[in-house]
Amino acid sequence: MIPDARRGGRFVKARGSIKAARFTESVIREMTRLASQHGAINLAQGFPDFPAPAALKEAAVQAIRDDMNQYAITWGARECRQAIARKFARFGGFIVDPEREITVTCGATEAMIATLLAVVDPGDEVIIFEPFYENYGPDSILSGAVPRFVSLRAPDWSFDPDDLARAFNARTRAIIINTPNNPTGKVFSRAELDIIAGLCREHDVLAITDEIYEHILYDEAEHVVLATLPGMRELTITINALSKTYSVTGWRVGYIIAPADLTASIRKTHDFLTVGAPAPLQAAAATALDFPDSYYEDLRRGYVERRDILHNGLLAAGLKANRPQGAYYIMADFSDLDFRGDDTAFAHHLITEVGVAPVPGSSFFNNPVDGATIIRFCFPKQHATLIEAGQRLVRGYR
Ligand code: PLP
Repeated sequence: MIPDARRGGRFVKARGSIKAARFTESVIREMTRLASQHGAINLAQGFPDFPAPAALKEAAVQAIRDDMNQYAITWGARECRQAIARKFARFGGFIVDPEREITVTCGATEAMIATLLAVVDPGDEVIIFEPFYENYGPDSILSGAVPRFVSLRAPDWSFDPDDLARAFNARTRAIIINTPNNPTGKVFSRAELDIIAGLCREHDVLAITDEIYEHILYDEAEHVVLATLPGMRELTITINALSKTYSVTGWRVGYIIAPADLTASIRKTHDFLTVGAPAPLQAAAATALDFPDSYYEDLRRGYVERRDILHNGLLAAGLKANRPQGAYYIMADFSDLDFRGDDTAFAHHLITEVGVAPVPGSSFFNNPVDGATIIRFCFPKQHATLIEAGQRLVRGYR
């Protein structure tokens, strides 16, 4: 960097943008680094420690052997988009046009920022339920959106319809709904989604849904695709990815389903962000998206077992653990313990002294104080990993 003469030769240009200064590095990824530094079991970052489906891996290997090495169509390889359209129709959506209504992205992460950049103008408000998946904060800042938070209240993480109605105003451009929900494990009911849809229709507001955990459901929970509610097809942008459903978080393949006009805008932001998702992995994705029903039934059964192991372990260790209806996270309240409501101190203590890494609850709230007595554990892990984590916690963290 060349010294800036106007400021007395100091390297004033060697600083990040004001935008970048407004958010911190990901706390979740930081916990992962600390976990590996201290040899702790990583129940912080939500990625599986078990293999991906063999047929999916074989399809990827085959695509590379077939020399599928060059850029795919920027908005997604045709066969991948066609498979997405088949899967969406099959699991409770509707028939979409893969030529005009689907964009393949680098994971749900890129899908969300590409969407916000495509539909939000600086100063537009975006409603976000809180606690929220931590990316939505920086995503709002990067896209120039003004976030407006509406609380989900423990223990069932329901929202007050009046609070929500008050959040809608003339500046509201969109609302983000993540169901099944990270970090709470809540699955939005049809009745709740009806309320949200009603407000979106009344105020002409877009619904951006993050449905990445659509197949990870427990007990009687049912996943409702918001876009299928009356009048919502034209107002909904549905985001999803292969990451969680097929245990390939590192592959970076996600997708967006949206009405054609919105898709046209989204495809432009997507193109200039990443050009496209990895071509051979898009080809492999088409195989996974056509897996038979038994794949999804097994996935669900496996997660029920994992949830029960970790939930029982946390209860045995004396933590007030929430029982999720969906996704693969458990929130635990530790307000009874002597950590003076310092979730970060407690999380660090668990990593360094107990050998289990959680995420401090404050990273899911706009006002960190609101998450100061909560930590989040994830459980996409082998039984042995979860049993060992439970035992370590039972042995003592006080
Ligand atoms: N959305 C939610 C709600 C998540 O929990 C995650 C990952 O934890 C993501 C998006 C990121 O998805 P991807 O890895 O496909 O970018």
